[in-house]
Amino acid sequence: MSISGEPSFRESVDLMFNRASKLMDLSPGLEQKIRVCNSTYTVRFGVRLRGKIETFTGYRSVHSEHMEPVKGGIRYALSVHQDEVEALAALMTYKCALVETPFGGSKGGLCVDPRAWDEHELELITRRFAYELIKRDLIHPAQNVPAPDMGTGEREMAWIADQYARMNTTDINAKACVTGKPPHAGGIQGRVEATGRGVQYALREFFRHKDDMGKAGLTGSLDGKRVIVQGLGNVGYHAAKFLSQEDGVKVIAVIERDGALLNPKGLDIEDVRQWMNSHDGLLAGYPHATHVANGAAVLEEACDILIPAAMEGVIHLGNAERIKAPLIIEAANGPITYGADEILRRKGCVIIPDMYANAGGVTVSYFEWVKNLSHIRFGRMQRRAEEARSRLLVEELERLSSDKGLGWTLADDFKERFLTGSDELALVRSGLDDTMRTAYQAMREVWHSRQDVEDLRVAAYIVSISRVAQTYRSKGL
Ligand code: NAD
Repeated sequence: MSISGEPSFRESVDLMFNRASKLMDLSPGLEQKIRVCNSTYTVRFGVRLRGKIETFTGYRSVHSEHMEPVKGGIRYALSVHQDEVEALAALMTYKCALVETPFGGSKGGLCVDPRAWDEHELELITRRFAYELIKRDLIHPAQNVPAPDMGTGEREMAWIADQYARMNTTDINAKACVTGKPPHAGGIQGRVEATGRGVQYALREFFRHKDDMGKAGLTGSLDGKRVIVQGLGNVGYHAAKFLSQEDGVKVIAVIERDGALLNPKGLDIEDVRQWMNSHDGLLAGYPHATHVANGAAVLEEACDILIPAAMEGVIHLGNAERIKAPLIIEAANGPITYGADEILRRKGCVIIPDMYANAGGVTVSYFEWVKNLSHIRFGRMQRRAEEARSRLLVEELERLSSDKGLGWTLADDFKERFLTGSDELALVRSGLDDTMRTAYQAMREVWHSRQDVEDLRVAAYIVSISRVAQTYRSKGL
């Protein structure tokens, strides 16, 4: 139990797991084997910075090796600790199983405030942390493949990949040791936006099912829905941008570290982000909205969809009763505590759970890993062949039209779109969309077909746990 009287993040994940496992036919031994975290490695290392040795503490947890490599991001924050890393590693196991990426679950973290160090210093810190993990095979293309998380991004992943290559000069698959790299360093198009894009695809899928929307008391489409987003970082920014630019939602508030911006007419997300980029990551002073200092209170404002996309534990026993959103999509990992989840369910709020909602990142990481192992860009072999076949069809239709005097004309924009073969970004988005739809349908099937399954979270756990159990059973466990 934490000081607030609520379970810790890891305990919260375990309690949610237990709600589902109670409804399943698992032997007690197997249930425990799936739930517990296999191992957590703690490392303390020194780096000479600004004339003195600074000591840093880092973690890499492996929750489940039922499939290898294991996969999970590396987080940089001062708040990182073992309990949090283990909770996040467990969520990775369930997430990978739910979206059918062939990985076990892992997670890493380093206690560091990335804003306190300059770029060169961060590179030294990252390379040293990576060195410690690489020499224990805790970063390895076949065993453990990290990715970005809070406080890390493409830059850190490129340093890690380079560090691995320096220590494994003959490993032809070295680039596959980490995902989320920049495209010029072995990354894949669409990875940076992937988690936010996945949130958008998840909501689109939810809104395709009228009876699911009905459970949240929502009607119509995404167009015009009022949305509140917490955290305008990688995940929150991309989700808010795509949903507002492509689906017509109105982002009526964004919540950040220094408070919140409110505008009932809808915020221009790109403009807000540019303001943050040029004002030390702060919202205050932004001219086209009202700034309120108490950001957390804005979670309680009326809206149609709440998107917590910052960090864990932000909806808790202290505020759950006052949350008005009928639909919450957990873009962050663990934003709702176990106790808050109970309160919200009682109030009739529908929660699209984290292990599904933010799985876009690991899905596109999987595509990147496959690309690295196959050493070829997606679409390179097929794109022009696809275009040539489409051109054949268009030319034949035009010939028929003129020979027979039918007077058909194909619209220019149709022709352009039809004649453009799929490049890597188009293929990544298609694979992600397919993954998000398929996984939602698997959860939904359990949610609707079983009387004892009240919510999407339990349904998600049931799908994941049964897949992990199946793998263990086929290994003879
Ligand atoms: P990020 O560091 O890019 O962004 C986090 C944002 O939240 C920052 O803008 C930060 O200022 C803001 N923030 C921090 N504390 C806050 C607070 N108390 N109130 C309001 N805003 C606050 O991180 P990210 O990669 O976008 O990750 C966000 C969440 O999504 C985390 O829970 C992470 O585990 C999860 N996630 C990320 C990915 C990914 O691909 N990056 C994938 C899956 C899940």
